[in-house]
Amino acid sequence: MVGEIRDQETAEIAINAAMTGHLVLSTLHTNDAATSLPRLLDMGVPPFLVAYTANIIVGQRLVRKICQFCKKEFKLDKVAIDNLAKAFDTNHLITLFKEYIPSEKGKSFDTVSFFQGEGCRRCGDTGYKGRQGIYEVLEITSDIVTMVNKRTEADEIAAQARKNGMITMIEDGLIKAKMGVTTINEILRVTKE
Ligand SMILES: [Zn+2]
Repeated sequence: MVGEIRDQETAEIAINAAMTGHLVLSTLHTNDAATSLPRLLDMGVPPFLVAYTANIIVGQRLVRKICQFCKKEFKLDKVAIDNLAKAFDTNHLITLFKEYIPSEKGKSFDTVSFFQGEGCRRCGDTGYKGRQGIYEVLEITSDIVTMVNKRTEADEIAAQARKNGMITMIEDGLIKAKMGVTTINEILRVTKE
């Protein structure tokens, strides 16, 4: 375990341990998983060392969970659908929901429902109780290794990871909103942060 990598010295310790056969777990503060790779290069670690020692990057943010005591299902109204369509590609969302939530098969966006807490004594009238991580998992496959070696920008690495099947943190959050774990508003809030 290496608490947090935030300078060249710590990065070198972590990479030396990884090169000598240890499984190294560590954290970095970045906006998303893909940005971790250029961040390590910015700290002065040579690209080939990052490329051949990194295995997997898990990005996470915390969102508030809906209070289970006052949770209610609601259908999106026209305004809410329009707002959502401005922030996200709704066709893509429906595809995601159908893929990851079996009960959503055959539904369109007009009929999609979400959840929110109405507020009660147990959640101090906030409608939220507890926290939940939303995640993205970036696997360092051979095509990503090539990109790191070429010092490719994080956006392009993220695009390739998505082609390889990565679900982004926000997509994971929207699936969790659809499943009633958190709210759409909560996902919109962390998206803007
Ligand atoms: Zn409540």
